Amino acid sequence: MAKIKVGVNGYGTIGKRVATAVLAQDDMTLIGVSKTRPTFEAQTAVAAGIPLYVPAESIPAFDKAGIKVAGTIDDLIAASDIIVDCTPGTVGPEDKAKYEKAGKKAIFQGGEEHGLTGVSFNSTANYKDSWGMQFSRVVSCNTTALLRTLSVLDRECKIKNAYVTIVRRAADPGDSKSGPINALEPSVSLPTHHGLDVKSVLPWLDITTMAIKASTTLMHIQAVVVRLGKEITTEEAVAMFAKMPRVRLISSKDGLKSTAQIMELARELGRSRSDMYEICVWSDGIKMVGDTLYYYQAVHQESDVIPENIDCIRSMFKMMEGPESVAKTNRALGIDH
Ligand code: NAD
Repeated sequence: MAKIKVGVNGYGTIGKRVATAVLAQDDMTLIGVSKTRPTFEAQTAVAAGIPLYVPAESIPAFDKAGIKVAGTIDDLIAASDIIVDCTPGTVGPEDKAKYEKAGKKAIFQGGEEHGLTGVSFNSTANYKDSWGMQFSRVVSCNTTALLRTLSVLDRECKIKNAYVTIVRRAADPGDSKSGPINALEPSVSLPTHHGLDVKSVLPWLDITTMAIKASTTLMHIQAVVVRLGKEITTEEAVAMFAKMPRVRLISSKDGLKSTAQIMELARELGRSRSDMYEICVWSDGIKMVGDTLYYYQAVHQESDVIPENIDCIRSMFKMMEGPESVAKTNRALGIDH
């Protein structure tokens, strides 16, 4: 099969990581990425040899900044088999019309509504739902994290209900305009949308969520309480987490007591941009009491959705089965299992 030609529309936190991940796959070619303004990220993309596409009206601004462009965003769409749309949430409907007109496939991100595509994606939970589709949506960072663990627990132990409290990072590390910078801010619209978003992939799951924004940029933490249809021991639960795809068991006994040390571990692993693609679950923070399982998981919001975008491309082009794609993506990105 010929390599799939991938264009990335929007080169911010998620887009730049998707581009790097596509470059690491032997069955995909990166056609280029798009930027709307001639910022430092446009310069670093060009310096890395990545063709840059811009809106037609922005070409003079890029010329003035001395940044070489390969063409317009319409040219990028025309040259690609699929566009991974990584623009900020809400631009999606406008972009979808362009992809439809050009007859191209596209993946949207979690900032867009599920209704935009009618199908949402997670590699572990529902790889086959995007099989051959023209459009799909990779769910948000928090939803991806919840689906990685809850989908396996539901498959193995039939979840009766799940209740999750999310402590959300206030901004990404490269963002200096969002907050709070010294406060905790509860989401007062309850239950929060995160549970509903999980249901966009597993509609039968009984899940409710609450969330608090915290003045940190590193990661989110999710405190999960799940009632299981099958009583298992704490040890059996730990063994189950150890086998879950893209879940990394960590222990406070190894000095991994907080998100600070997890991101230090990510830096030690030497991956691109110090990313932690796996959802990190504290093995010594897993506990079964009766039929109820308690655990904490940490989510690197900038990167956990990246391997899912790659798998979603393979599902939409019917390239291989889910477990095969997960293993292939993992090998390319240096993820253990
Ligand atoms: P971002 O702001 O970091 O990047 C967006 C990029 O799109 C920027 O480069 C911007 O210049 C560009 N852009 C803006 N308007 C555009 C347009 N009309 N056409 C082309 N490019 C345009 O945003 P992000 O954090 O990467 O988020 C992208 C999507 O991924 C959103 O749907 C978001 O909800 C989702 N997401 C974000 C995170 C996260 O933690 N940052 C995690 C998971 C999913």
